[in-house]
Amino acid sequence: MTKTIFSRIIDREVPAEILHEDDYCVAFRDVSPQAPVHVLLVPREPIPSIMAIDAAHAKIVGHMWTVVPKLAEQLGLDGGFRVVVNNGADGGQSVDHLHWHILGGRQMTWPPG
Ligand code: AMP
Repeated sequence: MTKTIFSRIIDREVPAEILHEDDYCVAFRDVSPQAPVHVLLVPREPIPSIMAIDAAHAKIVGHMWTVVPKLAEQLGLDGGFRVVVNNGADGGQSVDHLHWHILGGRQMTWPPG
């Protein structure tokens, strides 16, 4: 199976500014930032999407949520931030490797595009 671009970043085959890594996940800056702060949090395991999450992934996914507030603190997002997980074509997902977008550093608007 072809490695996802995020697996290639995790394996240091593709450069990225990595901000956090542990046994379960890695965070790095998005190459095309949509806000002053735009970080992707990605599981090491290439779970393709939200729809592929099952009970066996509970520890990974639960752990990733515990990383979010630590990253927000590290990034100085004291005023708040947004977490987005796009799923499938209609959701705007372009990389088939589960990832949390952490966006901040400006006022977010609603509804999202
Ligand atoms: P999504 O469209 O929700 O699947 O998000 C994929 C994200 O991955 C987009 O925001 C892209 O800008 C980002 N992305 C794609 N390739 C890279 C890369 N090599 N390094 C960092 N971010 C990337």
